[in-house]
Order: sequence, then C-alpha cells, then structure tokens
Amino acid sequence: TQAAPAHKRILLKLSGEALMGDDSFGINRATIERMVEEIATVTRVGVQVAVVIGGGNIFRGVAGGSVGMDRATADYMGMLATVMNALALADAMDKQGLTARVMSAIAIEQVVEPYVRPKALQYLEEGKVVVFAAGTGNPFFTTDTAAALRGAEIGAEVVLKATKVDGVYTADPFKDADATRYTQLSFDEAISRNLGIMDATAFALCRDQKLPVRVFSIVKHGALLRVVMGEDEGTLVYA
Ligand code: UDP
Repeated sequence: TQAAPAHKRILLKLSGEALMGDDSFGINRATIERMVEEIATVTRVGVQVAVVIGGGNIFRGVAGGSVGMDRATADYMGMLATVMNALALADAMDKQGLTARVMSAIAIEQVVEPYVRPKALQYLEEGKVVVFAAGTGNPFFTTDTAAALRGAEIGAEVVLKATKVDGVYTADPFKDADATRYTQLSFDEAISRNLGIMDATAFALCRDQKLPVRVFSIVKHGALLRVVMGEDEGTLVYA
C-alpha cells in the first residue's frame, strides 16, 4: 500500500525557461515530455494539478523586437507567449494520457477557453490537469503573480515553484561552495534576506493568503512526486 499524498490540490508554476531545456529559446520537445512525465506521476497518486505556465522562453526570443515598445503592448506579447507554451504543454499531456484543459486569462476563444473559476474547479475535481495561460491577463504583472492568484482562487494547498535549483540557498550554489539549502523559512525571513524567490507582488499575495510556496527542482527526477508525498525536498516558504 502506498502512503497518502500530503496535498490534495497543487498549483505548479513552470517558467517558460523550464520548457527550453538546453536550447537558448523556444520549446524543447524532450524537455517538455520529461516535465509531463513528472506531472503524470503526481496525478497517478490522486493529486489535483493546476499549472501556471510562463512565457520567458518565447518572449525573450522576440524581446529584441520589443525594445522601445510600449510596456503594456510588450506585456501582451509576453502573455500570448504563455498561450503558446500552454498549448504545447497540454498537447504533450494528452499524448501521455493525461487530460488537460487550457484556460486563458485573455479571451481568444477560437484557440482556448476562457478562465472561468467554477469550471476550473470542476475540471480539477474530474482529475483533469488545468493549464492557466495568459498570466493574470494584465500587463505589469508576471506569471509568478498569476500562480499566486490562481493558487489562492482554486484553494491550492501550496504553490510549487519549479526551478533549476533544488530549493532556496543561502548564496548562489553555483558560485559559492559554502551555500546551504534552507529546508524552510518564513515569508518575512525571505523578504528581509532579499532572497528574490518570486516578485514582490506574487510574494505579498501568497503571504497575505497564507498560501505556502515550495521551491523545488523540476529537472531533478522524482522531486515533484517527493514534494507531494510530503518528503523533504526543496525549500518551503510559509506564512
Ligand atoms: N505577463 C504579463 N502579465 C501577467 C503575466 C505575464 O504582462 O500576468 C507578461 C510579461 O511581459 C512577462 C511575460 O508575460 O515578462 C512572460 O511571463 P513571465 O516573465 O512571468 O514568464 P517566465 O519568466 O515564468 O517564463
């Protein structure tokens, strides 16, 4: 018999870069497939999964063209980039036998359905993976803030911020051999130590809503499953 997962419903934040692999921009097929395999392992133990996907991998590829552009317009480009990633991610999920639904914060109904909270909740109850696209739908925000927002809206127990490093460290582990990983720390500590885990808006929202954030490595095989099983993995930031 298998132990019960520590979480019923999670909000997974994947940056656009997470889909890039070792490429310099865009979507790397093998990488996205690996990521979906990790997600599939947690759906198999009965955890409801919602994903907020970033857009940096595509947006930074065209950022040269956005130099000098109106900020809001450039941000809309960024949000559209997340829609592309969401479509690719959902397609890869379908190919691996998961049922995915993309919901966009910006109306583009011919492409994906709009975000409607009760519908998202229904999909999650049905065991479908919901991929939230287009961030918050507003310029001047980030997909980290979208993760905090959607996480709070759907009653996720935790926001799992997937990174390339397996947690939050006292210093950059690539530069400083003495850097150690925090097992857990409070939002206030993270802010006072200026650890830059998420942008300030996202962080404030999570702290106010007492929505914990766990930073973990998405490239480390099995880490996502270990996180949902409540094992010591990554760093927990708590209110
Ligand atoms: N963006 C935005 N509002 C949002 C979410 C995203 O304007 O609510 C834009 C913003 O320009 C951002 C881009 O979309 O730079 C891509 O999102 P983000 O940088 O969060 O993606 P990630 O770094 O996670 O890949």
